[in-house]
Order: sequence, then C-alpha cells, then structure tokens
Amino acid sequence: MQTGRSTVRVRDVEFGGDEVVLIAGPCSVESETQLLTVARAVRDAGARMLRGGAFKPRTSPDSFRGLGEEGLKLLALARAETGLPVVTEVMDPRLIPLVSQYADMLQVGSRNMQNFPLLEELGRSRVPVLLKRGMGSTIDELLSAAEYLFRGGNDQVVFCERGIRTFEPSTRSTLDLNAVPMLRRRSLLPVIVDPSHGTGHAWMVPSLASAAVAVRADGLIIEVHANPALALSDGAQSVTPAEFDALAREVAAVATAIGRHTAVPCGAR
Ligand code: PEP
Ligand code: MN
Repeated sequence: MQTGRSTVRVRDVEFGGDEVVLIAGPCSVESETQLLTVARAVRDAGARMLRGGAFKPRTSPDSFRGLGEEGLKLLALARAETGLPVVTEVMDPRLIPLVSQYADMLQVGSRNMQNFPLLEELGRSRVPVLLKRGMGSTIDELLSAAEYLFRGGNDQVVFCERGIRTFEPSTRSTLDLNAVPMLRRRSLLPVIVDPSHGTGHAWMVPSLASAAVAVRADGLIIEVHANPALALSDGAQSVTPAEFDALAREVAAVATAIGRHTAVPCGAR
C-alpha cells in the first residue's frame, strides 16, 4: 500500500508502513506510579510506543525540568513491564550515550531542531531519531536538519509536525497539517503528528489526531496523564487514559477508511 516509502524500525514497531503507529505517554516522567499507570493504560488502548520526558526543555528554569537519569530508569522499567519501546528527548550531545542506554528512539525537540552539534552527534550514532519541527521553522529547514543526520550516516529518522507559532493566540500552536503531505512529497521518510503540543488543549486533541491520520500521517504522539490537573508539565493538553482509549478507536476507524490500520485491539473498533 505504501510502496516506495522508507520505513524506520524501532524494535518491533515499524513507521512508514500500512500501520499508523500510536505513541502515547506523559509529557514528563514524574514517578513510578504515574508512569506505569499510564503506560499500561495506553498499551491496552493500542499504543505501540511509550513517550515520556526525563530531560525537559522548559521556558523557565523554575519549572519542573524532569527527573533526569532517574526518569530514564523509570522509562526502562515501564518498557520491561509493558513491552512498549520508549522514545524520550535528548537535548545535550554529551548525554546521547546515557539516554540511548535506556531509550529505543531519541527525540530532538522543537527547540533543538537546529542544534547542529546535537544533530551531528546523533548522525554519528545509529539510534532512530524522532525529529520534531522547530516551532519557528519552515518545512525546508526541517528537511535540512534531517540532512545533518543523514550526513553522519543515520537515516533512521521520523519527522514530527508539532505545530508552529502564528498570530493566532487561542491555541498554543497552529498545527500545520499541510506539512504532512508536503513532507511526504519531498521525502520518503515517515511523518508523524503531535496534536498535543500542536493545540495545547486536551479537548482538541482527538479531532486533530483524526485529521492527521486522514492526511496520511504515519503515526501520532499523544500526551496522556491519569490526572492532568496535577501534571508537572503540559497538563492542559494531556488527555486521560479513557480519553486516549476513545481517541484510539476513532483514529482506528479513520485509518481503516484510508486503507491503513492501527494496533487497536481487535473488536474494539
Ligand atoms: C515534548 O514532547 O514534551 C516537547 C517538549 O515537545 P516539543 O519539543 O515539540 O515542544
Ligand atoms: Mn510536553
């Protein structure tokens, strides 16, 4: 169905094939209970990978900046518990060896899309990279950032559209779904969408998730928290496990309508 496109494998998960891959988990790893509760719930709802930040880029240095290596250990524990491969952000090239000890895929966050030393070092590594679009970056600039990874020899790259800054203040970002078909035209690599950061509002996330699948995104990355009001970061845009379950069913139906599928448990549609 997706003939001619490149695929990127993260353990048993394949991006860029017929499956629309759901990645879900908290914005930040906060505690063992918080992470394991969400990890089990999203796995049961059809998520194929777990997300969670251990090193968090925060606008204010006073905000919660993550548990660091302790957070990485909890991610590895959650992976062992659920079987879900893990994606987490790395901000500092010096921390690539540490973070890749625990994670299966490394995220380059929006604020670091043009952190060239980081891209060069990730290019030299062979670990799959989730490359998020800079919030003030064009599609050309995103493609050029990926070029830094390719030059080092790493072509295991998945693009992520996560919204850009526009003049519209009612949403945290303007989710640029145009980027999905455009990136798929200009590159063979998989493209996923992050409607959580792309909207900033949990109530908008399911609609934009379905829209992203309809425009042929190869996957979604969704922030989920058991008690969003108490989340240490990005609570306003985090859906609950029950809301994620409903979202997963809805996107499964959209995927089916365009000849693709998700891993939503059979009969759950
Ligand atoms: C995140 O995934 O929690 C994150 C910080 O994303 P972004 O870099 O897109 O803002
Ligand atoms: Mn976040």
